[in-house]
Amino acid sequence: HHPDRSTVWVGQPGHQVPIGPDTFTFIAGPCAVETPEQTLEAARMAKSAGATILRGGAFKPRTSPYAFQGLGLAGLEILVDVRRVTGLPIVTEVVDARDVPVVAEHADMLQIGTRNMANFGLLQAVGDAGKPVLLKRGMTATIEEWLMAAEYIAQRGNLDVVLCERGIRTFEPATRNTLDISAVPVVQATSHLPVIVDPSHAAGRKDLVVPLSRAAIAVGADGVIVDVHPDPETALCDGPQALLGTELRELAQAVRRLPPMV
Ligand code: PEP
Repeated sequence: HHPDRSTVWVGQPGHQVPIGPDTFTFIAGPCAVETPEQTLEAARMAKSAGATILRGGAFKPRTSPYAFQGLGLAGLEILVDVRRVTGLPIVTEVVDARDVPVVAEHADMLQIGTRNMANFGLLQAVGDAGKPVLLKRGMTATIEEWLMAAEYIAQRGNLDVVLCERGIRTFEPATRNTLDISAVPVVQATSHLPVIVDPSHAAGRKDLVVPLSRAAIAVGADGVIVDVHPDPETALCDGPQALLGTELRELAQAVRRLPPMV
């Protein structure tokens, strides 16, 4: 029952970045925080391509328990150092309700990943944390279920929720997930919340990041969030979907060249 589409502001007072209908927000950064050098380099690549928010996972929700799980608190501290140098606000994932206070203390925006979209205790905890939330769509969730997950956060008094379409499971194996681009206008017709697109996690392939970003703009998404890495071949997480700095700049140019939605 919100009359207009909302804008969510991310960052410290005086340095806030909008995500909403009047702008197209470009978020970029490494899938995972690995080292201070790698994170700073990725952040510099993101900033020089025009990104205004830095992404980076310190707590990684990996399918395999044997895969790199993230640096945890040390990763959060690296993100804070990198924010100090670059000025970019940080969005980072929280996977466990017990970690919400420490993540909220360090980050500007809390990310709920696809695997936790229906973790209602976690949603309530981020609803109480007083920071904006990036709520990814569950990979097997309907749009209705996704919006109800957002209600769990809103019910705690936190309306600063940004939705993120990141692909859903289908029978098609050519891409890791199938980007449900129609979700963007469908959500916008039903909800006042901003909605952005993650082409990196949707496709799992870097060659599709530019075309899917263009699709996101064309349907009226409020932004994109993409992976970038200084050396994708050695990345500890999702290297095949990470762009290099030059590719990220190409993406920014392709995105800028598209006419604005009327
Ligand atoms: C991520 O953005 O780091 C991530 C793991 O994304 P998703 O939850 O969409 O898989």
